[in-house]
Amino acid sequence: MKREAALRELRRLLGPEAAGIPGGRLPACDFGGWPLSGALAEAAPASQAQVVALVRWAAKRAVALVPAGARSSFWGSSASRGAVLVDLRRMNRLLGLDEVERSVRVEAGIATAALEERLRRRGLAMAACPDGFGDATLGSMVANDTTAGYGMFAGPASAHLVGLRVVLGTGEVLRAGASSLYRGLPAFSRSGLPDFSGLFLASEGALGIVTEMTLRIKPLSPRRVLILRYAPSRAAFEGLARLARDLRSARICAHWVNVSRLSPEEDETRIELEGELGPEELERRCAWLAARLRRLGLPGPERTENEPARWFGGERPRRWTGVSVSAPYGNISRIQSLWLKRWRPRARRLTEGEAGLRTYFGLEGTAALLWWRRREGLERESARFEAAARRDLARLGLPYRLGRAWGEAAKARLDPAYRRRLRWLKRCFDPKGIMNPGVGAF
Ligand SMILES: Cc1cc2nc3c(=O)[nH]c(=O)nc-3n(C[C@H](O)[C@H](O)[C@H](O)COP(=O)(O)OP(=O)(O)OC[C@H]3O[C@@H](n4cnc5c(N)ncnc54)[C@H](O)[C@@H]3O)c2cc1C
Repeated sequence: MKREAALRELRRLLGPEAAGIPGGRLPACDFGGWPLSGALAEAAPASQAQVVALVRWAAKRAVALVPAGARSSFWGSSASRGAVLVDLRRMNRLLGLDEVERSVRVEAGIATAALEERLRRRGLAMAACPDGFGDATLGSMVANDTTAGYGMFAGPASAHLVGLRVVLGTGEVLRAGASSLYRGLPAFSRSGLPDFSGLFLASEGALGIVTEMTLRIKPLSPRRVLILRYAPSRAAFEGLARLARDLRSARICAHWVNVSRLSPEEDETRIELEGELGPEELERRCAWLAARLRRLGLPGPERTENEPARWFGGERPRRWTGVSVSAPYGNISRIQSLWLKRWRPRARRLTEGEAGLRTYFGLEGTAALLWWRRREGLERESARFEAAARRDLARLGLPYRLGRAWGEAAKARLDPAYRRRLRWLKRCFDPKGIMNPGVGAF
């Protein structure tokens, strides 16, 4: 289809301001620098009814639709040639807040920071959140099944999902999740029926466009941030890993990130403790932590800050490349040794100073993320470094997770029977194959 004709029809369908040329509303590249190239147009529906109209139009015209939130992913998983990019950020309304049941119903394009702000004013907070900057949308949290980072401490964001609406490739609206199934009944978190919501987690828009969701929320609780500084060494990392294990067995909720940067003076561990039961509980936890640090021979907190509990704030990071790996506790110190001995010296030559290893310790597990900001003109060297880091991890027998490379490697190892079922599912929900056709798993 020709661009002019598409724009004309889309404007008639959604309104003159809602359709335009690619790059008009959405960033040209995602956070990792992967472009959505060759797209036909951008469309920004303002309601679920408009999403339905758009999907029906696309099915009739055999045009692919690629949904988008803030484009803060960094793995470039979508193929966009000839597709209409669907910017969902106009669908950003808070549709309902139930303070008794502690749940919130929102449109899929609402940004995480915007939702957080709305909840804070009522003394409430999201139960879990991705640690991207706050522009990431709630819809993509389902579509990506955003997990690592902060999600590691309170479970993935999707663990708090109790309701979902999705416009399938047929144009039909599917409700899933206990809170959406029954009309006029209170919102339970389990329905007693098979729950379709899981099918849409990590589906990256290949089965449909998420338009609405209901999430469990929690009361806002006091938070204390403890900053630890230490001389980076394998012994220190092992001590930190032991501390994380202790915190986990004591079921103390801590959002914990250890960041080792290019210059050792900047290395730090941030431990964020939350006192869900109030300030006294928070004090008790801090005292427990300080005693534990002493016992493990680790330096006590350099400083502590009372932070208004919020997920977002500070400066928005600049574009970077990353290699992330989910690793059991035992392997974290091996990864950190790799960073100290092999990766840090190499990263130093590749970047203008922004690179590091972030390690997350959580109730749900651990993850490590090697990141660096590519220096202009050193793209080839950067790619070689990325490949070398993955080889290092493979030698340790660790799975890595990295955008396209991970997607390809995972696809090759997917159980063929599972793959067949995924494809079958795709045909049921998206018979014309118009929903984000570039997603590898399908
Ligand atoms: C500094 C930083 C830290 C990050 N930390 C984490 C982290 O801790 N954990 C983590 O998992 N990710 C993390 N990310 C990656 C990213 O921020 C998250 O995955 C986030 O959920 C992406 O949101 P987005 O709105 O930018 O989605 P986009 O990048 O715009 O879209 C992501 C995918 O979802 C699809 N999609 C978007 N909206 C919908 C919808 N409504 N319906 C169907 N499909 C849709 C898109 O087609 C695409 O395939 C981080 C990113 C940055 C920059």
